[in-house]
Amino acid sequence: MGPYKRVLLKLSGEALMGDQSFGIDPLVLDRISGDIQAVLNSGTELGIVIGGGNFFRGLAGIEQGIERASADYMGMLATVLNSLALQSALERKGVPTRVLSAIEMRALAEPYIRRRAIRHLEKGRVIIFAGGTGNPYFTTDTAAALRASEIGAEVVLKATKVDGIYTEDPKKSPHAQKFLRLTYAEVLEKNLRVMDQTAIALCRENDMPIVVFDLMGEGNILNVIRGESLGTFVHH
Ligand code: UDP
Repeated sequence: MGPYKRVLLKLSGEALMGDQSFGIDPLVLDRISGDIQAVLNSGTELGIVIGGGNFFRGLAGIEQGIERASADYMGMLATVLNSLALQSALERKGVPTRVLSAIEMRALAEPYIRRRAIRHLEKGRVIIFAGGTGNPYFTTDTAAALRASEIGAEVVLKATKVDGIYTEDPKKSPHAQKFLRLTYAEVLEKNLRVMDQTAIALCRENDMPIVVFDLMGEGNILNVIRGESLGTFVHH
Protein backbone atom coordinates (compact mmCIF):
# COMPACT_ATOMS: atom_id res chain seq x y z
CA MET A 1 0.00 0.00 0.00
CA GLY A 2 1.47 3.29 -1.12
CA PRO A 3 3.29 5.55 -1.58
CA TYR A 4 2.05 5.69 -5.14
CA LYS A 5 3.58 7.39 -8.20
CA ARG A 6 0.61 7.17 -10.55
CA VAL A 7 -2.99 6.85 -9.44
CA LEU A 8 -6.49 6.88 -10.85
CA LEU A 9 -8.93 8.83 -8.70
CA LYS A 10 -12.63 8.08 -9.09
CA LEU A 11 -14.91 10.93 -8.02
CA SER A 12 -18.64 10.40 -8.13
CA GLY A 13 -20.82 13.19 -9.39
CA GLU A 14 -22.47 13.21 -5.99
CA ALA A 15 -19.14 14.12 -4.41
CA LEU A 16 -19.30 17.50 -6.14
CA MET A 17 -22.85 18.09 -4.99
CA GLY A 18 -22.00 18.62 -1.30
CA ASP A 19 -25.23 18.97 0.66
CA GLN A 20 -27.20 20.10 -2.36
CA SER A 21 -29.56 17.74 -4.14
CA PHE A 22 -28.40 18.61 -7.65
CA GLY A 23 -25.46 20.11 -9.51
CA ILE A 24 -22.17 21.39 -8.17
CA ASP A 25 -21.35 23.07 -4.85
CA PRO A 26 -18.57 25.58 -5.66
CA LEU A 27 -17.06 25.33 -2.17
CA VAL A 28 -16.79 21.55 -2.38
CA LEU A 29 -15.34 21.80 -5.87
CA ASP A 30 -12.75 24.28 -4.67
CA ARG A 31 -11.76 22.10 -1.72
CA ILE A 32 -11.37 18.98 -3.85
CA SER A 33 -9.30 20.97 -6.34
CA GLY A 34 -7.00 22.05 -3.52
CA ASP A 35 -6.55 18.42 -2.49
CA ILE A 36 -5.76 17.47 -6.08
CA GLN A 37 -3.24 20.31 -6.35
CA ALA A 38 -1.48 19.00 -3.23
CA VAL A 39 -1.26 15.54 -4.81
CA LEU A 40 0.31 16.91 -7.98
CA ASN A 41 2.76 19.04 -5.98
CA SER A 42 3.84 15.93 -4.08
CA GLY A 43 5.03 14.47 -7.39
CA THR A 44 2.31 11.88 -7.97
CA GLU A 45 0.74 11.59 -11.42
CA LEU A 46 -3.01 11.76 -11.37
CA GLY A 47 -5.79 10.70 -13.71
CA ILE A 48 -9.37 11.39 -12.66
CA VAL A 49 -12.56 9.68 -13.75
CA ILE A 50 -15.59 11.69 -12.78
CA GLY A 51 -19.19 10.52 -12.59
CA GLY A 52 -22.36 12.33 -13.54
CA GLY A 53 -24.91 11.30 -10.93
CA ASN A 54 -25.29 14.86 -9.62
CA PHE A 55 -26.90 15.76 -12.95
CA PHE A 56 -28.24 12.62 -14.57
CA ARG A 57 -28.13 8.84 -14.27
CA GLY A 58 -29.17 6.38 -16.94
CA LEU A 59 -31.53 4.62 -14.53
CA ALA A 60 -33.42 7.85 -13.82
CA GLY A 61 -33.88 8.35 -17.54
CA ILE A 62 -35.24 4.84 -18.02
CA GLU A 63 -37.84 5.54 -15.33
CA GLN A 64 -38.91 8.54 -17.39
CA GLY A 65 -39.40 6.31 -20.40
CA ILE A 66 -36.15 7.11 -22.19
CA GLU A 67 -34.58 4.19 -23.99
CA ARG A 68 -31.62 2.67 -22.12
CA ALA A 69 -28.85 3.57 -24.54
CA SER A 70 -30.05 7.15 -24.94
CA ALA A 71 -30.42 7.56 -21.18
CA ASP A 72 -26.89 6.28 -20.71
CA TYR A 73 -25.53 8.71 -23.29
CA MET A 74 -27.26 11.49 -21.37
CA GLY A 75 -25.45 10.26 -18.25
CA MET A 76 -22.15 10.30 -20.10
CA LEU A 77 -22.82 13.89 -21.15
CA ALA A 78 -23.39 14.74 -17.48
CA THR A 79 -19.83 13.58 -16.75
CA VAL A 80 -18.62 16.12 -19.33
CA LEU A 81 -20.31 18.93 -17.39
CA ASN A 82 -18.47 17.87 -14.24
CA SER A 83 -15.19 17.47 -16.11
CA LEU A 84 -15.29 21.02 -17.42
CA ALA A 85 -16.18 22.40 -13.99
CA LEU A 86 -13.33 20.50 -12.36
CA GLN A 87 -10.89 21.59 -15.05
CA SER A 88 -11.84 25.19 -14.54
CA ALA A 89 -11.47 24.94 -10.76
CA LEU A 90 -8.05 23.28 -11.11
CA GLU A 91 -6.80 25.82 -13.62
CA ARG A 92 -7.85 28.63 -11.29
CA LYS A 93 -5.27 27.18 -8.91
CA GLY A 94 -2.67 26.99 -11.64
CA VAL A 95 -2.88 23.20 -12.04
CA PRO A 96 -2.31 22.19 -15.69
CA THR A 97 -5.25 20.01 -16.68
CA ARG A 98 -6.51 18.26 -19.81
CA VAL A 99 -9.95 16.82 -20.38
CA LEU A 100 -9.96 13.70 -22.54
CA SER A 101 -13.37 12.59 -23.65
CA ALA A 102 -14.42 9.08 -24.61
CA ILE A 103 -17.12 10.67 -26.75
CA GLU A 104 -15.62 13.00 -29.32
CA MET A 105 -16.37 16.63 -28.58
CA ARG A 106 -13.47 18.45 -30.14
CA ALA A 107 -14.64 21.96 -29.37
CA LEU A 108 -14.22 21.40 -25.65
CA ALA A 109 -12.10 18.33 -24.99
CA GLU A 110 -9.40 16.23 -26.60
CA PRO A 111 -10.51 12.84 -27.79
CA TYR A 112 -9.34 10.03 -25.51
CA ILE A 113 -6.16 8.52 -26.91
CA ARG A 114 -4.29 6.29 -24.49
CA ARG A 115 -0.76 7.25 -25.49
CA ARG A 116 -1.62 10.91 -25.37
CA ALA A 117 -3.05 10.48 -21.88
CA ILE A 118 0.21 8.92 -20.74
CA ARG A 119 2.23 11.77 -22.30
CA HIS A 120 0.13 14.31 -20.43
CA LEU A 121 0.78 12.49 -17.16
CA GLU A 122 4.51 12.39 -17.82
CA LYS A 123 4.45 16.12 -18.43
CA GLY A 124 2.85 16.72 -15.05
CA ARG A 125 -0.68 17.46 -16.19
CA VAL A 126 -3.74 16.22 -14.39
CA ILE A 127 -6.00 14.34 -16.78
CA ILE A 128 -9.74 14.24 -16.44
CA PHE A 129 -11.38 11.37 -18.29
CA ALA A 130 -14.81 12.52 -19.44
CA GLY A 131 -17.61 10.47 -20.97
CA GLY A 132 -17.04 7.28 -18.96
CA THR A 133 -16.09 4.37 -21.20
CA GLY A 134 -17.99 5.96 -24.08
CA ASN A 135 -20.40 3.00 -24.09
CA PRO A 136 -23.91 2.62 -22.72
CA TYR A 137 -24.58 -0.17 -20.20
CA PHE A 138 -21.45 0.76 -18.24
CA THR A 139 -20.72 3.03 -15.29
CA THR A 140 -17.96 5.46 -14.47
CA ASP A 141 -16.68 2.98 -11.87
CA THR A 142 -15.98 0.60 -14.72
CA ALA A 143 -14.43 3.48 -16.66
CA ALA A 144 -12.14 4.06 -13.67
CA ALA A 145 -11.09 0.40 -13.57
CA LEU A 146 -10.48 0.44 -17.33
CA ARG A 147 -8.54 3.70 -17.52
CA ALA A 148 -6.45 2.78 -14.48
CA SER A 149 -5.21 -0.32 -16.28
CA GLU A 150 -4.73 1.51 -19.56
CA ILE A 151 -2.51 4.23 -18.09
CA GLY A 152 -0.62 1.84 -15.83
CA ALA A 153 -1.87 3.32 -12.56
CA GLU A 154 -0.84 1.49 -9.41
CA VAL A 155 -4.19 1.84 -7.71
CA VAL A 156 -7.78 3.00 -8.08
CA LEU A 157 -8.69 5.49 -5.37
CA LYS A 158 -12.44 5.35 -4.98
CA ALA A 159 -13.46 8.46 -3.07
CA THR A 160 -16.85 8.15 -1.37
CA LYS A 161 -18.92 9.70 1.38
CA VAL A 162 -18.21 6.74 3.69
CA ASP A 163 -14.76 6.01 5.11
CA GLY A 164 -14.49 2.48 3.70
CA ILE A 165 -16.43 -0.71 3.05
CA TYR A 166 -18.73 -1.94 5.83
CA THR A 167 -20.57 -5.15 6.58
CA GLU A 168 -23.80 -3.19 6.19
CA ASP A 169 -24.79 0.44 5.67
CA PRO A 170 -23.22 2.31 8.63
CA LYS A 171 -25.83 5.05 8.32
CA LYS A 172 -28.63 2.54 8.87
CA SER A 173 -27.12 -0.01 11.23
CA PRO A 174 -25.18 0.62 14.47
CA HIS A 175 -23.72 -2.90 14.14
CA ALA A 176 -22.01 -2.16 10.83
CA GLN A 177 -18.31 -3.02 10.91
CA LYS A 178 -15.61 -1.65 8.68
CA PHE A 179 -13.30 -3.92 6.69
CA LEU A 180 -9.65 -2.88 6.58
CA ARG A 181 -8.79 -5.32 3.80
CA LEU A 182 -10.86 -7.43 1.44
CA THR A 183 -10.18 -9.61 -1.56
CA TYR A 184 -11.97 -9.00 -4.86
CA ALA A 185 -13.69 -12.35 -4.39
CA GLU A 186 -15.04 -11.31 -0.98
CA VAL A 187 -16.43 -8.07 -2.38
CA LEU A 188 -18.16 -9.98 -5.18
CA GLU A 189 -19.42 -12.87 -3.02
CA LYS A 190 -20.68 -10.73 -0.16
CA ASN A 191 -22.21 -8.42 -2.78
CA LEU A 192 -20.74 -5.41 -0.97
CA ARG A 193 -22.00 -2.44 -2.88
CA VAL A 194 -18.96 -0.23 -3.27
CA MET A 195 -18.43 -0.41 -6.98
CA ASP A 196 -20.45 -2.31 -9.52
CA GLN A 197 -19.48 -5.91 -10.15
CA THR A 198 -18.12 -5.22 -13.64
CA ALA A 199 -15.65 -2.72 -12.20
CA ILE A 200 -14.55 -5.09 -9.43
CA ALA A 201 -14.16 -7.97 -11.90
CA LEU A 202 -12.05 -5.82 -14.21
CA CYS A 203 -9.79 -4.77 -11.34
CA ARG A 204 -9.45 -8.40 -10.30
CA GLU A 205 -8.49 -9.52 -13.81
CA ASN A 206 -5.83 -6.83 -14.04
CA ASP A 207 -4.62 -7.12 -10.46
CA MET A 208 -5.51 -3.48 -9.86
CA PRO A 209 -5.89 -2.70 -6.15
CA ILE A 210 -8.65 -0.37 -4.95
CA VAL A 211 -8.73 1.90 -1.93
CA VAL A 212 -12.19 3.01 -0.81
CA PHE A 213 -11.92 6.07 1.40
CA ASP A 214 -13.71 9.17 2.63
CA LEU A 215 -13.29 12.15 0.34
CA MET A 216 -14.74 14.58 2.85
CA GLY A 217 -11.72 14.54 5.15
CA GLU A 218 -9.50 17.36 3.90
CA GLY A 219 -6.14 16.10 2.62
CA ASN A 220 -7.31 12.49 2.55
CA ILE A 221 -6.39 11.93 -1.09
CA LEU A 222 -2.77 12.81 -0.39
CA ASN A 223 -2.75 10.79 2.83
CA VAL A 224 -3.90 7.67 0.99
CA ILE A 225 -1.29 8.23 -1.72
CA ARG A 226 1.44 8.55 0.92
CA GLY A 227 0.47 5.13 2.21
CA GLU A 228 -1.55 5.97 5.29
CA SER A 229 -3.95 3.15 5.91
CA LEU A 230 -7.23 4.96 5.47
CA GLY A 231 -10.44 3.27 4.38
CA THR A 232 -10.59 -0.23 2.94
CA PHE A 233 -7.97 -1.86 0.72
CA VAL A 234 -9.26 -4.33 -1.89
CA HIS A 235 -6.72 -6.65 -3.47
CA HIS A 236 -5.93 -10.27 -4.30
N1 UDP B 1 -22.55 5.94 -18.21
C1 UDP B 1 -22.53 5.05 -19.27
N2 UDP B 1 -21.33 4.48 -19.65
C2 UDP B 1 -20.16 4.75 -18.99
C3 UDP B 1 -20.21 5.63 -17.89
C4 UDP B 1 -21.41 6.22 -17.52
O1 UDP B 1 -23.55 4.77 -19.88
O2 UDP B 1 -19.12 4.20 -19.38
C5 UDP B 1 -23.83 6.62 -17.86
C6 UDP B 1 -24.75 5.81 -16.99
O3 UDP B 1 -26.07 6.06 -17.41
C7 UDP B 1 -24.55 6.41 -15.61
C8 UDP B 1 -24.27 7.85 -15.92
O4 UDP B 1 -23.54 7.82 -17.13
O5 UDP B 1 -25.70 6.29 -14.80
C9 UDP B 1 -23.50 8.61 -14.86
O6 UDP B 1 -22.40 7.85 -14.41
P1 UDP B 1 -22.34 7.21 -12.95
O7 UDP B 1 -23.69 6.75 -12.53
O8 UDP B 1 -21.26 6.19 -12.96
O9 UDP B 1 -21.91 8.46 -12.09
P2 UDP B 1 -21.63 8.57 -10.50
O10 UDP B 1 -22.54 7.63 -9.79
O11 UDP B 1 -20.20 8.18 -10.30
O12 UDP B 1 -21.87 10.01 -10.20
